[in-house]
Amino acid sequence: TDAPRLDFIRNIVREDLASGKHAQVHTRFPPEPNGYLHIGHAKSLVLNFGVAEEFSGTCNLRFDDTNPAKEDPEYVEAIKDDVRWLGFEWHELRHASDYFEVFYLAAEKLIRDGVAFVCDLNAEQVREYRGTLTEPGRESPFRSRSVEENLDLFRRMRAGEFPDGARTLRAKIDMASGNINLRDPAIYRIKHVAHQNTGDAWCIYPMYDYAHCLSDAIEGITHSLCTLEFEDHRPLYDWFVDHVDLVNHRELLAPLDRLGWHEEAAKPRQIEFSRLNINYTVMSKRKLIALVAEQLVDGWDDPRMPTLQGLRRRGFTPSSLRLFAQRVGISKQNSMTDFGLLEAALRDDLDAHAQRRLAVVNPLKLVLTNLDAGHEETLRFPNHPKDPSQGEREVPFSREVWIEQDDFAEVPPKGFHRLKPEGEVRLRGVGIIRCNEVIKDGDAVVELRCTLDPETRPGMAGADRKVKGTIHWVSARHAVAAEIRLYDRLFNVADPDDEDEGGPGYRAHLNPESKRIVRGWVEPAAATLPAEHSIQFERTGYFVTDRRDHRSDAPVFNRSVSLRDTWAS
Ligand code: ATP
Ligand code: MG
Ligand code: MG
Repeated sequence: TDAPRLDFIRNIVREDLASGKHAQVHTRFPPEPNGYLHIGHAKSLVLNFGVAEEFSGTCNLRFDDTNPAKEDPEYVEAIKDDVRWLGFEWHELRHASDYFEVFYLAAEKLIRDGVAFVCDLNAEQVREYRGTLTEPGRESPFRSRSVEENLDLFRRMRAGEFPDGARTLRAKIDMASGNINLRDPAIYRIKHVAHQNTGDAWCIYPMYDYAHCLSDAIEGITHSLCTLEFEDHRPLYDWFVDHVDLVNHRELLAPLDRLGWHEEAAKPRQIEFSRLNINYTVMSKRKLIALVAEQLVDGWDDPRMPTLQGLRRRGFTPSSLRLFAQRVGISKQNSMTDFGLLEAALRDDLDAHAQRRLAVVNPLKLVLTNLDAGHEETLRFPNHPKDPSQGEREVPFSREVWIEQDDFAEVPPKGFHRLKPEGEVRLRGVGIIRCNEVIKDGDAVVELRCTLDPETRPGMAGADRKVKGTIHWVSARHAVAAEIRLYDRLFNVADPDDEDEGGPGYRAHLNPESKRIVRGWVEPAAATLPAEHSIQFERTGYFVTDRRDHRSDAPVFNRSVSLRDTWAS
């Protein structure tokens, strides 16, 4: 059920290969380096790299870096790390800015062909002339400039003769079009800003709609997969591709030939799919940046963040995210995905792979009075209950152990099958114990004094004797003190982003319980795990050793996800 489905995009690709329209499929993942990747990007990554893998094609990683003001090399490096971490290998690593010279030559071609002009209207006037959904726009008074004048002005824009915003290069399409994107859209704007990849080389920058489709065409992208909000931009995408016509104007690619990149230009096809939305979170980069900047979270890789860095630190595995993306699937239907689906994918992945360990999160001391004070033994526990190939580990056992506070009830509620005064319970892997005495300090239970029935130890005649509950434990003498970070959803309402509907906004819906730090005890074989290693603490959930802070002598565990709540109390 978790095999990639033949969605509408894969169907198109399959038909295009079968009909011979394309010999090979080429896709790309095109992030703008203005923030960290989030779970929504994972959907796009899994789609673009997945389609390329499944149909023996290639996928490029392309930084869509046409907007210098908001971009940063820190993001570029983080994005590369994230893509590799998810297990994807890009064919070529490119930047839209690698093509700036090609874009420029293509713009001069559009001017010479009479379909682009330099416009002196300012931003406000452009808006005014553009018209509305119900009213056609008006043509710019500069629309009829001669080719010579346009070329001259455009070259002077590039040379830096004009201030920001003084002029734009615009496509000459149709001011009466029902699609506002076609009302003489801007191609270039003046911005005297340094660029993270090209430095001070340029003071004019191409618009996204112009740069994106031409980048696709340059790289020979066959299927340009993007989210639904670009559907209305598709006619413009096609207009630029057709009017620049790189396939028949390879001379425009000369700047790349000089770099040794002999690109096979092609006519790409844009196909839109619905973006991923998940409840109990926010995903716009602007809001994620605000959460970090306002220190509402502990940085980009805070385990509560929906960023790939955050999910990774929380303990999400690459395979769990791929599984999640596959289950969400690809369609044109906008919808809201339940956060639980993400957690379920992680559980399913970890249940199959993560080794089990013993840990006590809220400790209560339990003394086995019929064992000698110096009693000590080494037990062997399977690492995985369903997978013997994962082997066994040694678990030390002694007279004093820690158990979970809520595995004991002095006044047990109805149906409570764990330990109670005069009650019996199985100590996992040890045998049946009986609680004889409860030591209290005021109202607080501080110690339980119990006896272990030697006849119920593994291999003994009474080992199979039935008792209702089983509880986990760690040997007090051997346990290692651990910092245990209990994470929960960052927001406490399903739709935290409610500003547009008159709500107080996402900052007001932060879940104050989303991070709790407790001191617990773990068995030695948990403490010695390497960093970023996922395990299941029996009964309490799936945890990961923290990527940054975990050390064998000072272990730190992050709760990735709780267990499915099937524990019968
Ligand atoms: P934002 O609007 O928050 O800046 P973006 O969509 O502009 O996000 P990009 O860096 O441009 O972010 O995205 C890179 C690629 O990932 C694009 O192809 C984009 O469509 C895709 N993508 C981004 N967010 C999602 C999402 N929530 N679901 C699916 N694909 C997404
Ligand atoms: Mg963006
Ligand atoms: Mg974008």
